[in-house]
Amino acid sequence: MILYNTLTREKETFIPNEEGKVKMYTCGPTVYHYAHIGNLRSYIMEDVLLRELRYEGYEVKRVMNITDVGHLSSDADTGEDKMVKGALREHKSVMEIAKFYTDAFFEDFKKLNNIYPEVVEPATNCIDDFIKVVSVLLEKGHAYIAGGNVYFDTSTLENYYALTPHKEDDLRVGVRDDVEADENKKNPADFVLWFTKSKFEDQQLKWDSPWGVGYPGWHIECSCISMKHLGENLDIHCGGVDNIFPHHTNEIAQSEAYLGHKWCNYWFHVQHLNDRNGKMSKSEGNILTVSTLEEKGYHPLVYRFYCLQSHYRKPLEFTFENLDNTKAIYEKLTSRVAELAKQVTPDQVVDSSLLDENKRKFINVVGNDINTASGISLLYDTFKLEANPATKLAVLESFDEVLGIGIKEMESGRVTQEVESVDEDLLAYINEKIEERKEAKKAKDFTKADAIRDELRAKGIEIKDTREGVVWKRI
Ligand code: AMP
Ligand code: ZN
Repeated sequence: MILYNTLTREKETFIPNEEGKVKMYTCGPTVYHYAHIGNLRSYIMEDVLLRELRYEGYEVKRVMNITDVGHLSSDADTGEDKMVKGALREHKSVMEIAKFYTDAFFEDFKKLNNIYPEVVEPATNCIDDFIKVVSVLLEKGHAYIAGGNVYFDTSTLENYYALTPHKEDDLRVGVRDDVEADENKKNPADFVLWFTKSKFEDQQLKWDSPWGVGYPGWHIECSCISMKHLGENLDIHCGGVDNIFPHHTNEIAQSEAYLGHKWCNYWFHVQHLNDRNGKMSKSEGNILTVSTLEEKGYHPLVYRFYCLQSHYRKPLEFTFENLDNTKAIYEKLTSRVAELAKQVTPDQVVDSSLLDENKRKFINVVGNDINTASGISLLYDTFKLEANPATKLAVLESFDEVLGIGIKEMESGRVTQEVESVDEDLLAYINEKIEERKEAKKAKDFTKADAIRDELRAKGIEIKDTREGVVWKRI
C-alpha cells in the first residue's frame, strides 16, 4: 500500500513495524453533541483505510478514544470544557451527555457501514494512565508545574514542529487572535497536561492527583489510550486535518518524550467537509447529521458513496444538489446490481482467476493512497467484464469489502427503498408537540413538558434541548 504521510509530506510505501500486523489509532469524537456529517467524512475515510489494509491481508487492530473530558472550547487550552458546556446546555450531568452522544455516534457509525473498532475507550476510564505518564514527563524534565497546572515544556524537544513546520510563527502571541496569553506558560506552544486551576469553576468531573484535584488535558488522552492498547510503536494514527495542530503535534511531543524513541510512523489526515459557509463545525451549532439526511429521505449509504467519490486529501464541498445527484447514481447502481443478481443461476461457476485478477487491480488502484473514486470506476467496469453474472457479482461483493456501500443489500433492491422521507403528518405532529412543550416550559409546567417528551418517545421520537433550539431524531 502507498500512503501519503503527513509527517514526511510524501507518499510512501507502507511498512508496518511487525510484518502483516497493523496498529491503528483513531481520534474519537468529543461527545458533547451529535457528530455532524463532516466528522463522519473523517470516520468513513478511515474506515476505508482499515478495510483496504484488511483486504490486502493485514491483521489490523484499531483503537479509538471517546473524549468525555478535557477538550476545551479552544484547542489551545482556553475556554470551558466542551463537555461541561454540553451538560449545561441540556441540564444534564456530563456523564449523561457522554452516554447519550456516544450511543448516538455509534448508531450513525453503524448506519454508514463503518466497522466498530476493536477497542473503544472513554478518557474518563484512564485517569491512572494519564497520571502515570504525566509523572514520568515531570521526572524527565519535559514538564513543569505553574499556577497549579502541569504543562508540557515544548522547548525540551528538538523537533516539536515536525508534523506542522509552519506553525511556529503563528504561535507568537498576538499573531493569532484566539490564543490568549497564559502567563504560566514558559513557551507559547506549551500545553496543559493536567489542570487543577481553571478560570471555570464548574468543571464537573475531577480526580485526585499528585498535583491536586483536577482533570487531564485533551492531548494526553490519545497518547495514553494508544499506548495502553497498542504499545510503544504505533503504525498509523488518523484524524481530520484540524487535528494536526495542536492535537497531534502535542501527542507526538508527549509520547516521544515519555518513551524516549519514535512513536508513530504514518499520519493519515482527512481533509474537511465544507458547506457554503466554510468548515462544518460542531461548535457552530448549525450542523447536518445523519438523522437530518434520513429525515430528508437520503439513505446514510448515499452519503458514504458521496464521500467515496472524492479523494480524502481534498476538501469536499457539501450541497444538497450534489447529494441528489449521488442519490440518483446510487439508486441506478442498486437497480443494476439487483438486475445482475436476478441473472445468477445455480449452475454458474465463479471464475476464480478472473476474480483474483480483479482483486489485484483493485488493490493497485485503491491501495495507492486510498483512491476511492478510481475504486468506484472499477466497480462500474465490472458490469462490462466478459464473465457470467455469478462472477461479476462475486467481483462486486469483493470490492465492497473495502467500499462498504451495501452491494449485498442492493442485490435484493432493498437499500434505497428502506428509507422514506418522514411523512408530512408526522412532521406536523412533532412540531406541534415541540411548540406545546415550549409553552408548558415557559409556564413552568414541567410535569406537562415531561409528559409531552414521553408521548413523543412512545411514538419513537427523541427530543433534545440544545442552545440552538429543540432537535429531534428517531429512536
Ligand atoms: P471532534 O468530535 O470535534 O473531536 O472531531 C471528531 C473528528 O472529526 C476529528 O478527527 C476531527 O478532525 C474531524 N472533523 C471535524 N470537523 C470536520 C469536518 N468539517 N470535516 C471532516 N472532518 C472533521
Ligand atoms: Zn486524539
